Amino acid sequence: MSDANCLFCRLAAGEIAADRLHEDDEVVAFRDINPQAPVHVLLIPRRHVASALDLGESEGSLLGRLFGVAAEVAHREGVAANGFRLVTNIGQNGGQSVNHLHFHLLGGRRLSWPPG
Ligand code: AMP
Ligand code: ZN
Repeated sequence: MSDANCLFCRLAAGEIAADRLHEDDEVVAFRDINPQAPVHVLLIPRRHVASALDLGESEGSLLGRLFGVAAEVAHREGVAANGFRLVTNIGQNGGQSVNHLHFHLLGGRRLSWPPG
């Protein structure tokens, strides 16, 4: 369920400090330590899921919770009206550096497309 060697499992468990914006039984949201936009928040499930590749139909409600918290945080951070980006990187070519599923919520500036 939780991996003692996983950074985000440890962060979710409170063993690693973070600027937390939201916590509930399933989801934690906190500011990215190396922000790439004026608003850069990470949303993670408490339980260890390595990446979106490991999500199946049974995780539908977890995904609903993650997206619900993302919308709530976007409103609270003042980026909902002008728009923002929600993205999850998968594997090496996707640029994933922490192997615990996380969604980046990026906003507060115009984001380019396609991403680099
Ligand atoms: P990714 O490269 O998609 O796997 O994203 C991992 C993100 O986690 C990066 O944007 C890092 O800046 C961020 N990160 C790494 N360690 C921490 C930490 N202790 N607290 C907050 N964000 C972190
Ligand atoms: Zn983990």
